[in-house]
Amino acid sequence: MNAPMTPGLAGADCRTNATSPSLPVLRERGQREVFCGLTGIVWLHRKIQDAFFLVVGSRTCAHLIQSAAGVMIFAEPRFGTAIIDERDLAGLADANDELDRVVGQLLERRPNIRTLFLVGSCPSEVIKLDLSRAAQRLSARWGPRTRVFSYSGSGIETTFTQGEDACLAAWIPELPVTGQGVGGAATRLLVVGSLPDIVEEQFLRLFAAMGLDDVAFFPPRNSMNLPSVGPNTRFLLAQPFLAETARLLEARGARRIAAPFPFGAEGTSAWLAAAAEAFGVDPDLCTRVCAPARARAERALAAIRPELEGRRIFFFPDSQLEIPLARFLARELGMVLTEVGTPYLHRQHLAEELAWLPDAVQLSEGGDVERQLDRCRQARPDLVVCGLGLANPLEDAGITTKWSIELVFSPVHGFEQAADLAELFARPLRRRQRLVLPGTTAVSTPSAAAIAGQPA
Ligand code: SF4
Repeated sequence: MNAPMTPGLAGADCRTNATSPSLPVLRERGQREVFCGLTGIVWLHRKIQDAFFLVVGSRTCAHLIQSAAGVMIFAEPRFGTAIIDERDLAGLADANDELDRVVGQLLERRPNIRTLFLVGSCPSEVIKLDLSRAAQRLSARWGPRTRVFSYSGSGIETTFTQGEDACLAAWIPELPVTGQGVGGAATRLLVVGSLPDIVEEQFLRLFAAMGLDDVAFFPPRNSMNLPSVGPNTRFLLAQPFLAETARLLEARGARRIAAPFPFGAEGTSAWLAAAAEAFGVDPDLCTRVCAPARARAERALAAIRPELEGRRIFFFPDSQLEIPLARFLARELGMVLTEVGTPYLHRQHLAEELAWLPDAVQLSEGGDVERQLDRCRQARPDLVVCGLGLANPLEDAGITTKWSIELVFSPVHGFEQAADLAELFARPLRRRQRLVLPGTTAVSTPSAAAIAGQPA
């Protein structure tokens, strides 16, 4: 569902500030139209194979999770909702008892659950519950067999990719300190951010060919295999939405390797090269190791480029992937960026990406959906990347859309997925092309006319 308006930020407060003199940022603080952080459960439960995500929420939260994950049918799903009905403060003891009972039933029936996340939501009766205390209580009851953690996926506090950030941040205190856990005291590379297993394996092969064998991923596939973290850890972010996780890793002494994100042939090469440099790998070796996969990716992208080159694209703020994706589409596929919106702009983590954006691009941070819709109509883009809530009305108005949620659910990182990523943008344009009435020749003309309120 759409996240509610952020309390205290209601109304339009739109001003510009600057990332650099050439990149003004429009800051929006109005109503936003994005999924809440519960959505992250859909990819996190697939990644961490012995974890369970128990949403403590309302029927609405249960519906959101069911429909977001609706395509996946499991005999034993690894997520569920404990529905807390409306109750007053006097009923809180009952709510805690009920939560303990639900968790007890679940863990007795599913002894293979090694990590349980209690995921908070925004209904007022859930906000009254102290889930971190509940997690401590339940950990004392069920540990060490099952460790219990809590984080918030509430729409008041999180947009949808922030659910992963909150989950990983809640887990960091559990990571062994360097020298105590897996990996010992040697300097190790930690890749941070949930990646499909197949992408992890591709990266592991490339790192190994460069002589980097001590590489761990967080989150891990197996929650009992947590990487140790300390001053000898260098970490590479695989996702641009992990601000709090990165902050907590740095507080442990780990150091971030500054890099663009591994989208497209160019981004992936630079991401791997940054890791290579941090570990003293010969740059020529890095280039040689990457060359075959990079060449394959570039050939595959060249085949798709004619469909995207010169097409105008508008990003509504949704996933925090917008800036790296916009960079990829502009530089490797020749798309024209009209506006690139992002829910939050982390200038430090995105410094390399911002430096690669074209000078004239309009960046916006935060949401004010009505104003953004007005600007979108004015920009007359060929393709709009937005959340599900906006896609249907925009399609109805003749505007071609791409659901941003698909970009998070699909394997899109690395060389081998570069063309699949480009395809995600080419496909809606092809679909629109097929819908063009006989006698019309351009895909964008009817859309642009419709959104500008002019006769086609
Ligand atoms: S957490 Fe809040 S925004 Fe998310 S589904 Fe539940 S009620 Fe809706």
